[in-house]
Amino acid sequence: MTLAGKRAIITGSTSGIGLGIATALAAAGADVVLNSFTDRPEDHALAADLGAAHGVQARYLAADMADGGACRALIAQAGGCDILVNNAGIQHVAPLDEFPVAKWDAIIAINLTSAFHTTAAVLPGMRAKGWGRVVNIASAHGLTASPYKAAYIAAKHGVVGLSKTVALETAGQGITCNAICPGYVLTPLIEAQIPDQMKTHGMDRETVIREVMLLRQPSRQFATTDQIGGTAVFLCSDAAAQITGTTISVDGGWTAL
Ligand code: NAD
Repeated sequence: MTLAGKRAIITGSTSGIGLGIATALAAAGADVVLNSFTDRPEDHALAADLGAAHGVQARYLAADMADGGACRALIAQAGGCDILVNNAGIQHVAPLDEFPVAKWDAIIAINLTSAFHTTAAVLPGMRAKGWGRVVNIASAHGLTASPYKAAYIAAKHGVVGLSKTVALETAGQGITCNAICPGYVLTPLIEAQIPDQMKTHGMDRETVIREVMLLRQPSRQFATTDQIGGTAVFLCSDAAAQITGTTISVDGGWTAL
């Protein structure tokens, strides 16, 4: 399939799942706008390299997804888009009664409210073209819960609900909105947690991955950023034109338990 002529904006796409999705969309022919909150030469170089590798236009635009005005300015600066991927996200783990208020506010802002702002900003342009795809990166934690992740789980359940509402408000207009719900994906974010877990549990790397991190993922295998990218490309395809307002789990069976 080709997404040539389509412009995609992927929030939080300098690493991990966002970069995997941007790479998959570029490989399918889409022009891509990468984003994070930093504005370093290497951010712009990352976009230039991705564009050169796939023969598409690729730009990097800095914008802090914690700031609603910056979310809307990102869309305006990019000139709108055909494909919006709301991916930026952070995590903090603490018991509810000790959860830092600033962390709660930041997680709700970055993981949930940013998608409200960016989606509101892209819909008029998508309606004018009669085509659009909004792909929200939720989580298995958008469908199930775990202790000590209250803000993340509230935000990801919110993303699933937001996706359904956007789908209803755009139904029949050539626009779809869905949420991808990954289980554990081995990104830099997750990789950084492995040494601590090895120390805490006194286990080697392979055991901590299988018996601690992937305990709830029946396949006992990480999903990959390529697989999440491929799922996003599928949601942008004609085959997915009637898939809207739903979730697609890429979680090795986690939510089947
Ligand atoms: P990551 O840390 O590798 O990537 C997160 C990206 O978001 C980075 O590019 C980072 O710079 C950017 N970002 C962070 N704060 C931002 C801000 N304020 N404004 C703009 N950009 C910001 O993490 P990841 O694992 O690739 O996670 C990406 C998304 O996938 C998140 O929404 C996360 O909740 C979700 N997810 C991850 C997993 C997993 O196992 N890795 C599982 C399910 C869902």
